[in-house]
Amino acid sequence: MKVDIKGRTLALVRGDITLQAVDAIVNAANAGLRGGGGVDGAIHRAGGPEIMEECRRIGGCPTGTACVTGAGKLRARHVIHAVGPRWKGGDRGEAGLLAGAYRSSLEAAAKLGLASMAFPSLSTGAYGYPLEQAAAIAIATVTDFLKGGTSLQQVTFVLFDQETFAVFEQELNERA
Ligand code: ADP
Repeated sequence: MKVDIKGRTLALVRGDITLQAVDAIVNAANAGLRGGGGVDGAIHRAGGPEIMEECRRIGGCPTGTACVTGAGKLRARHVIHAVGPRWKGGDRGEAGLLAGAYRSSLEAAAKLGLASMAFPSLSTGAYGYPLEQAAAIAIATVTDFLKGGTSLQQVTFVLFDQETFAVFEQELNERA
């Protein structure tokens, strides 16, 4: 599914983000940039040890922000490590932190002059963020960013499972 936002494209696909041939893929990282399970583990496995070496040099990245490394053996040129919040019930600033993780990733890509990037669904796996609420924040933050002037021509959400894809699709249909 694709929608046009002021001549730019917001796309949703089901799939594995490590296989995407885009300028940057976004990782659902932790604040220590230490690697982990889920999409983080998949990116480090597929990209090779260079990415972790760079993460160690950076040392960490605060929740609600994003840090950039190379992409090792991946087809993408950069990995943007976005640190979404762990869900703690909703009154610990989670919504602002999740929007911040998306926005910081978009800003990092624009700063590098990139044309295409792909996001997973941040925080909705091990970090337990309720899927409907997270999808609304993800779609709203990317849509708002694409409405402004930016080098980005295409942003794709690469969603791993059918449920996540369906919830993002419903959210995008409601906003379109
Ligand atoms: P978090 O810790 O931020 O919740 P997870 O990696 O546990 O991150 O989950 C975030 C989302 O990424 C989940 O929807 C999960 O199904 C999905 N995911 C896992 N592996 C991949 C992959 N290879 N490509 C895209 N999405 C993935």
